[in-house]
Amino acid sequence: MDKKKASHGIRCLLLITYMVAGILPLLLLSSVVFRITEQYYIEERKKELLNQANILSGHIALSDYLTDTEKAAEFIEDLEQTSSQGDFRIIVTDETGLVVNDSNKTEIGKMYLIPEIVEALDNKDVAKEQANGSIYAVASIVNDDGEKIGVVLISDMPTDITQKMEDIRKQIYTLTAVIIFIVISIVMFFAQMITKPLEQMVGVIRKIADGHLDQRIPTTGMSNNEIREVTEAVNNMAEKLQQVDISRQQFVSNVSHELKTPLSSIKVLSESILLNADAPKEMYVEFLQDITSEVDRMTEIINDLLTLVRLDQKEIPVNFKDENLNLLVQEVIKRLLPLAEHNKITLTYEQSQDVVAQVDATKLTLAVSNLVENAIKYTDEGGSVKVTLDCDHQNAFLTVTDTGIGMAEEELGKIFDRFYRIDKTRDRQTGGTGLGLSITHSTVLLHDGSIKVSSKENEGTTFVVRIPLAHS
Ligand code: ADP
Repeated sequence: MDKKKASHGIRCLLLITYMVAGILPLLLLSSVVFRITEQYYIEERKKELLNQANILSGHIALSDYLTDTEKAAEFIEDLEQTSSQGDFRIIVTDETGLVVNDSNKTEIGKMYLIPEIVEALDNKDVAKEQANGSIYAVASIVNDDGEKIGVVLISDMPTDITQKMEDIRKQIYTLTAVIIFIVISIVMFFAQMITKPLEQMVGVIRKIADGHLDQRIPTTGMSNNEIREVTEAVNNMAEKLQQVDISRQQFVSNVSHELKTPLSSIKVLSESILLNADAPKEMYVEFLQDITSEVDRMTEIINDLLTLVRLDQKEIPVNFKDENLNLLVQEVIKRLLPLAEHNKITLTYEQSQDVVAQVDATKLTLAVSNLVENAIKYTDEGGSVKVTLDCDHQNAFLTVTDTGIGMAEEELGKIFDRFYRIDKTRDRQTGGTGLGLSITHSTVLLHDGSIKVSSKENEGTTFVVRIPLAHS
């Protein structure tokens, strides 16, 4: 996905979330408040008009306006005055619904039997909102004998309320617009905070994918949050990739170097023979023997390399089986005893108990062989090599101790590296490839075990291998 599109996606998502979670409830709430307020004003106006109608009906009854025809002028004057005070229309009917008086004068003498008037004559005074928005308040006129002799109807168009509500609506709209603006600004700010490092990250990851393994995402100024965690994880991953790349390059150059040396020797030897056409047969034999031993060395290196590569790739299926480790180690000792005797070294084996563990016998035999063979190789005449095997409830422990040349403290961290040899000239004589300990290390790791080394120069070396007795 395009990185710009991705960051827009996050922005849109944040915006929609804030709109739905923040602004939508606000709009709903304000519309509910708006309705309640409008209803409140209307109810108040109804009460007010009904009150007015009641006062007027009392006044009409008291002044005998409906029965005394001589008071017609006074009646109309009173009506007009009250109507102009409140700016509303007043209609007065008798008990049959015949309009006796009208502040607008248009309905006088007509029948005006609307449901509100019938209700007021029949039952009780009412105030109702009409479909066109006007309010009708109807109060009955009752004479001294308690008889209903007519009704007063006040009709009012509450334009002031409509105006007031319109003002409130405008204020709500303005407020909502301001809040939306603030929310969008905040969302943009936060989105920027989130997407900026993400964009940076995507850019760096793309560069890493293109092979620029030295690229890192800057973390300075970044607050401690998930984005920082992801950034650090990506940087760590890049670091590891770079290390793998460096060690791969180193490995290739080491392999080339290791193979070049015997090849150069072979070339020199064969050229010497070619240049010396009259050389005696013995010289031919000697040179050819030397060439053969160089070829053997190359074969040894290649075999070790193949073993290592297969161990790393876990290509050879691991064949964990219950094995008696005492027998396994004894076999190794038996095979290496002639070499120890040849080097005039005492090779001993000590076992405190029977140790049975789930191991791949072929691989572990090679790993143990490498350790014991090294101990013999790097111990001078008259020295000794001691191998012991022990175990606890969970692990088997194999110790290989020699009284040999030992190693300096700073070398101990490097001896498991491929092709690492401390003294190259001496090691060439001993025939080492520098791969033995790497093979041992990989094998031990394959068994979920560990290997530790302690050594002192000219005093000796001890390797301790721990192998779990069982595999889950
Ligand atoms: P090599 O085939 O050269 O023996 P290894 O990987 O087995 O390679 O060992 C790496 C280096 O570690 C050796 O070259 C040697 O210098 C050193 N080393 C290994 N074992 C011992 C030991 N028991 N005593 C002293 N040095 C050792």
